[in-house]
Amino acid sequence: MKFFICPACQLPTVAIGQFERERSVCRICKSTARERAVAKAMRQAMVLCPNAERVIGVSDGRWMARFATKLFGDRYSNHHYHQEPRLDIVEPDQSLFNSADIVSCCEVLEHIEPPANRAFVGLFNILKPGGIAVLSVPHTRAGDAHAEHFPVMTNTKLEMEPSPTWTGYTPDGKFHSFGDLIFHGGLGSTLEFRMYSEDSFRRHLEDAGFTIIEVLTNDRLHGIVWGPWSRVWLAQKPA
Ligand SMILES: [Zn+2]
Repeated sequence: MKFFICPACQLPTVAIGQFERERSVCRICKSTARERAVAKAMRQAMVLCPNAERVIGVSDGRWMARFATKLFGDRYSNHHYHQEPRLDIVEPDQSLFNSADIVSCCEVLEHIEPPANRAFVGLFNILKPGGIAVLSVPHTRAGDAHAEHFPVMTNTKLEMEPSPTWTGYTPDGKFHSFGDLIFHGGLGSTLEFRMYSEDSFRRHLEDAGFTIIEVLTNDRLHGIVWGPWSRVWLAQKPA
């Protein structure tokens, strides 16, 4: 049996299925291994910011939003691109600048139109000095190449018929059309724009001004077990 202490529900429990990032769910709270790593990181963020007044979720999924609400109550608000409360992480409203003690941004940064660095700067800007970002993103290992799937374009459009294509114009005015698209969680708005490597993700964070506190590794006792890629990160905006 795959016993562990779940950092999400904080109970001794077992995993259903093999240990994998998006599987091995906790029998009690149904968290996946990745969600347990995020839960562990959120609890660490809480210790680092014991007086957190505002916690912002960047398009958190249902499980994550429920967990963060349990942890922070009404100090947590989940923000979305398309619905209230709104947040465009590439260009956050000035009213959100320096407003959050903790920000969670999970499985979002691979879906940002290039250049991706704008989103990292956006995250940095909405945090208060000393604030903590909890991040999860698919990435390959250190030493692997960063794969940017598309160039920087304007007037971009995702066409689904007759087959999914990503189109737009590069700064030289040329029209481009890309097929062979990769979607996460089905067709739609979750187009994958890039695959970070551990190195390129680290560089994006550091270039935006973040200090990396920890890249969470496997932790069998807490049911956090998968390959050495696509980890959960804790980063801080320097005080
Ligand atoms: Zn659990």
